[in-house]
Amino acid sequence: MPNGFPTPDIVESTAMGSASSRAQCAALWREYAAATYEHVRLLTECAVPSGTDVSDFQALVSQAESAAKRRREARAAVKLHLATAHPPREAAAQAFGSD
Ligand SMILES: [Zn+2]
Repeated sequence: MPNGFPTPDIVESTAMGSASSRAQCAALWREYAAATYEHVRLLTECAVPSGTDVSDFQALVSQAESAAKRRREARAAVKLHLATAHPPREAAAQAFGSD
């Protein structure tokens, strides 16, 4: 993001319901969906190694761990977003839970 642009937090609090807020909402959900998809894809690859090369398998495990971290962060971002940008849905954010 270029210098001088408002941070997402400021956009969220000053432009509630604006196009930029809705765009951020969609982007957070897209990122969570993409992170989840990638994590599951990598876990599937880990479960069925295509070869017997141990270093390949270790690389896959490492990628899956990175994907898991990205998924947790995306989930936390969505949860925070639900609690801050959609106050009436605070209960829904809590029901969303954690992993
Ligand atoms: Zn939202």
